Amino acid sequence: MTKPIKQHLIDPEICIRCYTCEEACPVDAITHNDDNVVVDASKCDFCMACIAPCPTGSIDNWRVVAKAYSLEEQFEWLELPEQEALAGPGDGGEADTTLEALDDEVAALLAEAHKGAGGKAKAPPSASKPSINLYNLGHPAEAVVQGNYRLTAEDADSDVRHIILDLGTQSFPVLEGQSVGIAPPGLDAQGKPFLPRLYSVSSPRDGERPNTNNLSLTVKREPHGVCSNYVCDLERGDRVKLTGPFGSTFLLPNDPQAKLVMICTGTGSAPFRGFTMRRQRTMPEIAGRMRLFFGARTPDALPYFGPLKKVPEAVLAKHFAFSRAEDAPKQYVQHRLLDERERLSALIADADTHIYICGLKAMEAGVEEAFEDIARGAGLDWHTIRDGMREAGRYHVETY
Ligand SMILES: Cc1cc2nc3c(=O)[nH]c(=O)nc-3n(C[C@H](O)[C@H](O)[C@H](O)COP(=O)(O)OP(=O)(O)OC[C@H]3O[C@@H](n4cnc5c(N)ncnc54)[C@H](O)[C@@H]3O)c2cc1C
Ligand code: SF4
Ligand code: SF4
Repeated sequence: MTKPIKQHLIDPEICIRCYTCEEACPVDAITHNDDNVVVDASKCDFCMACIAPCPTGSIDNWRVVAKAYSLEEQFEWLELPEQEALAGPGDGGEADTTLEALDDEVAALLAEAHKGAGGKAKAPPSASKPSINLYNLGHPAEAVVQGNYRLTAEDADSDVRHIILDLGTQSFPVLEGQSVGIAPPGLDAQGKPFLPRLYSVSSPRDGERPNTNNLSLTVKREPHGVCSNYVCDLERGDRVKLTGPFGSTFLLPNDPQAKLVMICTGTGSAPFRGFTMRRQRTMPEIAGRMRLFFGARTPDALPYFGPLKKVPEAVLAKHFAFSRAEDAPKQYVQHRLLDERERLSALIADADTHIYICGLKAMEAGVEEAFEDIARGAGLDWHTIRDGMREAGRYHVETY
């Protein structure tokens, strides 16, 4: 079977036929007739030069297809076709047509990070439509560092930082749960530029404060890590190149009924800070629908510990687990899940519940076992429930 291809398309329902994109395209891949503006798949090299100038966003559409739609087909369209289901390699199953990133390296990182969900990830049906890959290495966004604050105590053994990046007048539409790419400057051992690393955005879509065109990241310094040290050492006023945004499934439902169970370790808290702030801004009256299970070695090493404690329990119920707290037995997130087994067995059987797991890969096995145990105790089969939730866009794993 031929490999599926990614195709760039323009939404004819939204496009205002201003032809700005046609002028912006350096390889003349965009053309129009009296009806539609269309992209020639044989010419488009995903340089993204057309994306930012489009005033309507209709240019930002992508499909994974077995055979590219021809110009003639696109000229006929009154609306964009749905993403078609594609046969999987060899087994006749469904191929993954989720476009998390256009760039193969980033798509592979995200596929690996989402593996723990046990199957094809889907966004919650009510989630906003994400933009992906508006900026790439050849055409990056440039942000200015507005602040870099240490989140963990000075003497804690992990150095985690809250980094605020100002995007100035650039359009960088990002949703809670998406990631950005940062390529550290310099060359690798083979003399090639470093590939970008991914960092989850920890602010809500409208910025650290409403209507500020900035975003924040939660970055842990890794011993000898190339990019994390670069980011953690950034100073106010420094300029950073960003690619992305990336990710189209680890997203927040825009549904006031939705109940969120968020499970994380360390920097896995980043998307959940964004989720919580978004809900506080848009649905402040909603109580009892967000629950956070957060693991760290000690309270001093738990990013956002102080600010989190200030969020009222009625808005966000918090369950902390410390594996190295003084004078207390080792606790991991799975222990706190088991402590809440009654509540969680009701939640996993509830069609309004969304589960999100983010952070270190090492947490996955324990969390999975805890859910198996909780489900078994309630006479339920966890794998059936989990697969059904994932299929419905209600079960998400992003681990690294
Ligand atoms: C979807 C996704 C979201 C992510 N979100 C976040 C986030 O929000 N925050 C965050 O902090 N991270 C996040 N990450 C992880 C991040 O992308 C990087 O992997 C991380 O920052 C390490 O990158 P690095 O360049 O510092 O390490 P690299 O230089 O790539 O090194 C990788 C590992 O090898 C080790 N290593 C490197 N050189 C040596 C050496 N000489 N000797 C011994 N060990 C060595 C490093 O300690 C590190 O653990 C995310 C990853 C994914 C896939
Ligand atoms: S992504 Fe680049 S090559 Fe493709 S249509 Fe847009 S400007 Fe042209
Ligand atoms: S720039 Fe956007 S709105 Fe204008 S023609 Fe191109 S796709 Fe349509």
